[in-house]
Amino acid sequence: PQLNNPDLEEIPFKEVPELVDPMIKGHQSMTSLSEVDEGTTTRYVMEDQDIKTFLAIPVIVQGDFYGFVGFDNCTGEVRWSEEEVRTLKTITSNLAIAIERNQIENERKKLLNEKNRILESIGDGFFAVDNNFIVEYWNNQAEELLFTPKEKVLNQYLWNAFDKNLAQKSYQQYSKALKERIPLKFEDYYKPIGRWFDVNVYPSQNGISVFFKDITERKQAEEKLKELNQSLKVQAKELARSNEELKQFALVASHDLQEPLRMITSFLAQLERKYKDVLDEKGKKYIYFATDGARRMRQIILDLLDFSRVGRVDMEKSEVDIYEILENIQTLHHKIIDEKGARVTWGKMPVVFAARGPLQQLFQNLINNALKYHENDHQPEVKISSIETETHWGFSVKDNGIGIKEEYKEKIFNIFQRLHHKDEYSGTGVGLAICKKIIEMHGGEIWLESEEGKGSTFYFTIAK
Ligand code: ADP
Repeated sequence: PQLNNPDLEEIPFKEVPELVDPMIKGHQSMTSLSEVDEGTTTRYVMEDQDIKTFLAIPVIVQGDFYGFVGFDNCTGEVRWSEEEVRTLKTITSNLAIAIERNQIENERKKLLNEKNRILESIGDGFFAVDNNFIVEYWNNQAEELLFTPKEKVLNQYLWNAFDKNLAQKSYQQYSKALKERIPLKFEDYYKPIGRWFDVNVYPSQNGISVFFKDITERKQAEEKLKELNQSLKVQAKELARSNEELKQFALVASHDLQEPLRMITSFLAQLERKYKDVLDEKGKKYIYFATDGARRMRQIILDLLDFSRVGRVDMEKSEVDIYEILENIQTLHHKIIDEKGARVTWGKMPVVFAARGPLQQLFQNLINNALKYHENDHQPEVKISSIETETHWGFSVKDNGIGIKEEYKEKIFNIFQRLHHKDEYSGTGVGLAICKKIIEMHGGEIWLESEEGKGSTFYFTIAK
């Protein structure tokens, strides 16, 4: 009648030490009413239920006190015989074993769930096979990556679903991992679906576990890169060849072309000298034009030689004080600066690691242009500044000259590109092409900002 009495439920162990203490130590506890002190909870509980003697046998699960089975005698104070106690203990210990087994089973299920959760949540494809290639596990990602649902492979021979001959490498590696019980890593292409995989194999208790990733995109990128490298090689070869041609051309230009040119000039001079009196004004004008043409042609040849020389000669790098270079240029140009009433100024300048000659030529060309491209009555102002970044030195050469139209901003760096007629401003159109070449040899870039009629600023960088 007391089975469902709430007063008797959840009594804290410490209130009934007579009952609990021996059991915590692993012993049974057998006590009669007359042995229990007055006023204790144990006594009250026994009296209340009319219990004369109780026997409590602990249930020990995995070494811990898990609970107990209690037997009450309400007819009189008794002593259970050893035989009786042993029988009851057997029953209790069977109960403990059943509980333990159940706990282990629950634990195993929990671990299995956890394992499955992990195997399903990893981004990789995963499957497990036993020693005979019978598939034991196949995760969702594997279904997607291999276009094969679980139903088709689980508990089946792996090579029923996949053609062993088309997956030669995988087959060999899996077999090796199974036989030698070692982890392996490899890449394989599975032709039927046209995908590349990065595969990791680990030996397990009775087979292997396989993790794999789709690396098709990476592989394709690698292939592309290889192709690009190849065509780059071809281009580099082509470039080397055309450089060589240019060198040859420069040589021809310097010797073979200059010689006939000298001849033209000298005969023109003779013509002018000897036939001065016979020639009319028109004739003299023609001779002047022809001489001027020859002179310009000579300049073009010299500039071209200059251009072809950049990068071949004089490229040894050392510490170069830009301040010093600018001073030099100012001294060299003092005549034209004075004539035009120009002002050339600069701020703080660094010492850089570069090829001295070419760097001086670079500044010289830019400053030259900045002084040259002005309206006649205009006083040129040229300002040179520098900044430093983590990887480069940056410079700017700013003028207040005629400026450059937006559409020519790129073109003017090409060789022989000029925006003006020789009568307007002299030149051959090689200066900026030389600048560009020098900058490229120094791992930098050159560009400009300009507003027509207001001036231009040329910017360039050189790698530290
Ligand atoms: P060149 O001065 O011998 O013509 P460059 O290569 O130095 O050759 O310059 C190419 C063209 O770019 C010039 O003909 C000129 O039209 C334009 N240019 C260069 N620098 C400037 C500048 N600072 N202001 C305006 N135009 C310029």
